[in-house]
Parts: sequence; C-alpha cells; structure tokens
Amino acid sequence: MSSEHVAGLPSSVDVYDTTLRDGAQQEGISLTVEDKLRVARQLDALGVRYIEGGWPGANPKDAEFFRRAPEELNLEHATLVAFGSTRRAGVKAESDATLRSLLEASTKAVCLVAKAWDYHVTDALRTSLGEGIKMAFDSVDFLVKQGLEVFFDAEHFFDGYKRNPSYSLSILDAAEQAGARTLVLCDTNGGALPFEVEEIVARVSEVSAAQIGVHFHNDSGCAVANSLSAVRAGATHVQGCINGYGERTGNANLSTVVPDLTLKMGIETVPRERIQLITSLSRHVAEIVNLPLSPQSPYVGASAFTHKAGLHVSAIARRPDAYEHIDPETVGNGTRFVVSEMAGRQSLLLKANELGVEIRDEALSQVLERLKELEHKGYHFEVADGSLELLLRLSEGWTQDFFSLESFKVLTEYKEKGESVTEATVKVVVNGERVIETAEGNGPVSALDAALRKALRPYFEALSQMHLTDFKVRVLDSDKATDATVRVLIDSSNGDDTWSTIGVSSNVIEASWHALVDSIVVGLIRAAASSVYL
Ligand SMILES: [Zn+2]
Repeated sequence: MSSEHVAGLPSSVDVYDTTLRDGAQQEGISLTVEDKLRVARQLDALGVRYIEGGWPGANPKDAEFFRRAPEELNLEHATLVAFGSTRRAGVKAESDATLRSLLEASTKAVCLVAKAWDYHVTDALRTSLGEGIKMAFDSVDFLVKQGLEVFFDAEHFFDGYKRNPSYSLSILDAAEQAGARTLVLCDTNGGALPFEVEEIVARVSEVSAAQIGVHFHNDSGCAVANSLSAVRAGATHVQGCINGYGERTGNANLSTVVPDLTLKMGIETVPRERIQLITSLSRHVAEIVNLPLSPQSPYVGASAFTHKAGLHVSAIARRPDAYEHIDPETVGNGTRFVVSEMAGRQSLLLKANELGVEIRDEALSQVLERLKELEHKGYHFEVADGSLELLLRLSEGWTQDFFSLESFKVLTEYKEKGESVTEATVKVVVNGERVIETAEGNGPVSALDAALRKALRPYFEALSQMHLTDFKVRVLDSDKATDATVRVLIDSSNGDDTWSTIGVSSNVIEASWHALVDSIVVGLIRAAASSVYL
C-alpha cells in the first residue's frame, strides 16, 4: 500500500457530502430532522469539508433542519450548505422564492443547480438558451453579492457537453463570471465512463479558472472510478454520499472515494488521523437510515477483510498483507476469519484472537469437536460469529451469569381480515430476582425480543443501545416438510459493532429463542467488557 503523494495529482480535494440531500432520495430512506442532525454530527466528526443539508425551498423538513442546525450542530470541521435551483425563467433573482428560501436557511454556503444540457433548457424549462444562461448568472451573482460562498451544480453536464459543448461551457462561464466558488460537473443520469470523464474534465480545467468539482451517479457502475478519474484530470472537489446512497443505483460512495483518494492516491481529504473513523461512521449512518450495510462494501463492509479459504488463513497468519490491499485498521475495520467445521486449529485460533478470547490448546480441540457436531445438526458458524464467541468462551469455563430462563410462552391470535397479534411472556431470573414480562410484536421473534428486553432493561442499561438489524429463517431439509429443521440467524448492532447469532431447531420459535438469547448475551458481553461480569 502506498499513500505517498503521486506526482501530477492535486495535494488536496474538498470532500462534499450530499447524503442528507441527494442520498435521501434513495427508495426506503426517510430521515427525520433528528436523524439528519445525527448524520451531520457524524460527518463533521469524520472531518468532511462540506455537508449539504437539504433543499429548504422544496421541503419544509429541510427548512426546519436549517433552522435548528445553528443551535443544535456545533460543527467543528464542516461548513453547512443549503441546496436550491437557480431563479425561474422571467423572474428577477431578488424576488425568486427559491433564492429567498436559500437566504433564509442562513448558511455561509449554498449550492445552486442549473441545467447544462441545451435540450433540458428548451424542453424542460421551456425557455431560450440565452435565458438559461442569464438565469445561472443572475442567481449566482445575487447570492455572491449577499456574501455567500456559491457552489454551482451544472446538471447533466457530461451528457450536455457530449452533444453541445459550447452551450454547456457557456453555462459554466456565466457562473464563473458571476463569482461561483466551484463549478460542479454533474453526471445526473449516471451513464458516464472514466475515460470520457477524464477527457471532459481536463478540457474544462483548461478553459476555466474556477475550482472544478464533480458529482457522479452510479448507473454505469462507475461513480467511484469516475470521481477518481476526474481528480486525475484536475477536479479538486468531489461530491458523494456515505455508503453510496442515492436515487436508482446511488451516488458516488464516499466511504470508498475518501479512502481511495487518501490511501491510494496520497491526496489530503479528511484529516489524516480521522480516516480510521470511516468504518464506524458508515455503519452508524446505515443504522440511522435503517438499511443494512452490504458486507461487501469496500473498506468498511463486514466482509471487506474476511478470509475463509484455509490457504489464505495460514498465509495471513504469517504475513498480514499477503491477501489484504491495505491494513484494515487504517480505516477502522479489522481482519476477520470465518470458521466452519472445515476449519483447522489455526483458523480457530485466529478467530479466538480476533474475538479477544484467550483459549488453551485442549479447549481448542473441544471446540473443534463441538463445531463439527453442531454443524452436522445444521448450525453454520461461518455466519454467526456471535454464537461462535459464546462457544469459545464456554469452553474456557465462562458461564452466562446475566440472567437465566425459567420459561417462555408465545401466543398468536388471528383476527378477521388476516390481522394477527403475537404476544410473548418470558419468566427469567436476574440478580436473584424473578421477573415476568409480557410484550406484543408483529411476529414471535419480535414479541419474544420485546418481552425479554422489557424484563432485562432495568438491570442492563446497555440494552437500550442494542437492537436487531436483520432476521433470517431458513428451512434446512425441506423434503421433510413440517418436520424440517430450521435455522434462524439474527444480526444485531449497538451502533458501533455488529454481530450475528444462530439457533437451530425443528421448532422455529425455539430456534429463534436461542439466536435471540445469544444476541443479547453477546451484546451484554461487549457492553460490559470492562465490568464485573467478565
Ligand atoms: Zn445527483
């Protein structure tokens, strides 16, 4: 891995995050103002230069975000940016509602979007190309004269440039003449390819004195590659979203672009010591937007540095860089080994180290035996390192003293119109006290989870940080129909850390219960790592 600065590249690139505006356009993402404030705090902690907070003129929730931001966000590194379009055709800038709402957002910087593809001006805006240019000039001019730093998003720039370069360049020129800080070339439809980007950005850099920025969508799978190519060709401002969120196939993934620029190209992006926060930030933001982070996400995914094959594992043990493109700790991630019945002692030992469990030789042999037995019954520890951790700890004499189960009961009541309510009651003993709690859920797992948490929460504060992020049921021997064995996998998170647990039984509720109890016990172990419980 080389992180030395590469000749011909800029020494630094401004990272401009638009997770809260463009990223929030993704299907299934709906952020409250509170969520947006939390994401903004995370981004500031990472040290991005700009945070685009939203579109105050188009969305009352965004207007509220900008109202609350000065009080509730004490940004240390980032500058907040409000987004909006240029003035409407035939209207004076000073009386345009969108521009006024941008002023009311009271940020130091704004981003104005304008159409840079001729036919969008004539067909979508239904105005003349000349008016299109005036709209860009007047709007930038108006806001610059109000003392604002103005970013200029040239929408559809790459597609427009390919068809009518002179119009696309004259829009940029108007914005530059009016005092825009940065001309941002947008690939709004996301179809550009790296070699085209490199050529076009180089051309714009030649004719323009302003800073060049880029904004890519991932429709051809090249948003990250395009961002890097643009930087090679002279762009020093890159827009994108954490985890690549965004409409359709998403925006350029900043969780990849930032480490690529910093660690591979030697360019300053976020403060160097903060790049190790990027894994926890990506996971934290995934929690807030309530979408599981793909384990295969470069740099930050749970599988990004995971090794399975036996040959890799023994090589990695000798030379960590043999099968890893960077040191995972640089980005706050870690090497993981997946362990299954195929595993040798070496893999299991490495896994125990990774989980922070010290294990003696004879205990190791016992665990290997036990793994084989359990995997034969349908367990699959490769995907359940939480349950594996418990197995390792038990073999070393650890006992689960958080609570013990007396019994549990689940009732599902079907009503007319197909509605159903599931109720669970758990009886547990905690701290020598017998606790009985009942809770409802939309299925047996959520009802059991709710009842168990209700019973334990008064004793373990850490439970309020923990929740289930995913739940999977798989029928293992489906030819046995209703007698089949089922495997339940539960993914859990406390915001920083994620773990998976497993339960296997011919009874789906029993399998769920085992996975659920393991999930809570692992969470309590992680929370209490330094307390009396261990
Ligand atoms: Zn966009």
